Amino acid sequence: MQADEILEGLNSEQREAVKYNDGPLLIVAGAGTGKTAVITKKIAYLIAEKLAKPSEILALTFTKKAAYEMEERVDIIAPYGYNDVKIKTFHSFAEEFLQENAYYLGFSTNFKVLSDIQQILFVRERIFDFDLKIFRPLSDPTKFIADMLKYFSRLKDEVIEPQTYTDFAQTSADKAQIEAEKEEAEKHLELARAYATYQKMMIASDRLDFGDTLLYMLKALQEKPSLLARLRQTYKYILVDEFQDTNYSQNELLKILTIANLKSQIQNPKQIKNPKSEIQNNLQSEICNLPCPVVTVVGDDDQSIYKFRGASVSNIMAFTEQYPNVKQIVLKENYRSTQAILDASYRLIKNNEERLETKYKIDKKLISATEQGSEPEFIYKDSEQEEAASVAEEIKKLKKQENNYSDFAILVRGNKNALAFTNALSAHKIPFTFSGAEGLFRKQVIKILISFLSILSNPTDNLALFNLLTSEVVGVGYDGLSVILHKVRSTNIPLEEYLRGKVAEINAEERGKIEKALDLLTKFRRESVGKNTGEILYEFLQESDYLKMLSSREKEGSIADAEKIISIASFFDRIRGFQDANLDTGLQKFMEYLDVLLEVGEDAKESSDDPNFDAVRVLTFHAGKGLEFDYVFMAGLIDSRFPGANRSNTFEVPVELIKEKLPEGDVHVQEERRLFYVAITRAKKKLYLSSGRDY
Ligand code: ATP
Ligand code: MG
Repeated sequence: MQADEILEGLNSEQREAVKYNDGPLLIVAGAGTGKTAVITKKIAYLIAEKLAKPSEILALTFTKKAAYEMEERVDIIAPYGYNDVKIKTFHSFAEEFLQENAYYLGFSTNFKVLSDIQQILFVRERIFDFDLKIFRPLSDPTKFIADMLKYFSRLKDEVIEPQTYTDFAQTSADKAQIEAEKEEAEKHLELARAYATYQKMMIASDRLDFGDTLLYMLKALQEKPSLLARLRQTYKYILVDEFQDTNYSQNELLKILTIANLKSQIQNPKQIKNPKSEIQNNLQSEICNLPCPVVTVVGDDDQSIYKFRGASVSNIMAFTEQYPNVKQIVLKENYRSTQAILDASYRLIKNNEERLETKYKIDKKLISATEQGSEPEFIYKDSEQEEAASVAEEIKKLKKQENNYSDFAILVRGNKNALAFTNALSAHKIPFTFSGAEGLFRKQVIKILISFLSILSNPTDNLALFNLLTSEVVGVGYDGLSVILHKVRSTNIPLEEYLRGKVAEINAEERGKIEKALDLLTKFRRESVGKNTGEILYEFLQESDYLKMLSSREKEGSIADAEKIISIASFFDRIRGFQDANLDTGLQKFMEYLDVLLEVGEDAKESSDDPNFDAVRVLTFHAGKGLEFDYVFMAGLIDSRFPGANRSNTFEVPVELIKEKLPEGDVHVQEERRLFYVAITRAKKKLYLSSGRDY
């Protein structure tokens, strides 16, 4: 594509933003003004104008989903030969770097990056190696471990290494005068020790967590100038989307890559202990003179929702100081939403004290490029069920006029709040996808598979067997079997054992089905030894003919069955993820993994979604970031859910160790307002707010 074609249709500010590539560029602009569009167009433009080869461009985004979306958009503008453009999340960029330089950095080449759940399991197995005295996690170890890991991850976001933390805790302990101070310092000492232990354990077994990837990459670039030099030579342009949500460590990474003389800022003199560092310093000053990649960042301070105590707003503000010759562009025209939606969002967000609009006197009041549109509508019902039913009915009604289910999104506060809505959608036969594992595991079809795995690994799991037998895979009648289930409960004989005996209550047809299922179980128990969970499940789907049944119904046009097949595929993705990270990939271990996953919930980092699947998106408010839909339903808007209660973390990073500027005002309410603002501005045509009276 030619440069002219790429620029076609852009307004003059967007055009200017795409064409300006001589130095650092900061675009601060409201929602839907084409920030992401500018980044994707810029990629195409740089290549068309021969300012860079595809492989010399690095685009960093926030979530896997965003990276995927951006790839799609670049593909549309520039379909051929652009595969070499690196579009990555910060974490996956860092992971790839560590992989490529593993030998040089002393990592094993087959290190694994653990998900949140895998981390918990990893620590749970080794909890007694932690030497905990003050914190006694025995009553609820999983919750404690999850909190502790969250804390370590925040320390890493702030680039605080175990040694720095220990030094801090030790100094506080030495200085402490009153009892309360001593106690506090002791707690920090214990946490610092636990942090150091955790880091050692992970490295020793070739494991990293998400935070580690950035931390170790940053360290490598500070200590090994040749690596930094290579990256600075590889990339001519670095583009960052959603810059408002970069944390301290991500911002440090960006700085070291793109600011010529950074040495004095990043190397904390306290950490330079050995004489080698002197040499490194000298070397570093040589490569400081190499040309650095040109950086473009786009962001919206009003959409900062992932930050640590508002720190990221300080990243945007600090940007102009770090890059003195930065050019700034503001985009004001909104191409996404109607004016009515934009006005509603502005009425809300202008109440925030800490905004760039007031600080920098820039005007962020958005003007819609589309139409006035109708005012947001409020759906208020007696109960959550009725609320959800109304939402589903409204979608059904609108769908008749529209083409796709994927034009609709229902935003919920947390994964747990989705249930009423996913149920209502199912009841109305509306296909949907739901971010987060709970959503997947709540699907009927996945419950069946889990029931099979449960009864396979635990013959006394009556409920699992009951679910399996009454499911469409086996098809035993519900009523008859529940009477039996009730009966065996009082006798303490496991349902399976009871059914294997002579059961008078069951007719011949049902008997046949049950016997077939039990035979299959016996066979699988015998043969599953030494097989991994994925293999076992796959064989079960084959031998029970379940997969065959689903796909033949799908071929006849059944949407529900198509959806089931997609769910099964996602479930296999989970299993694969689990198998990749564990040496023991057997069934028992997998069941343990599922338990923790269901108890702790899952981070959005891992959710992936096929954007081509025509289904209503049920998302958390957070997961909606960067996306757009014709119709958005903001559901469950009740007191204490929105704004949510201000729950503090179990462990807080000491303020003394935080390096960026902390925000002013009521931080929590401002953050909630931003989240609400993000949600409103996802809607293109119409916005609905809903709640129920009884909850
Ligand atoms: P967010 O703040 O939510 O991340 P954004 O600023 O990144 O939003 P985009 O997603 O890039 O905005 O753009 C919003 C919508 O407007 C997209 O559908 C995009 O294709 C469209 N758009 C952007 N610029 C133009 C333009 N000049 N003409 C027509 N449509 C445009
Ligand atoms: Mg965007």
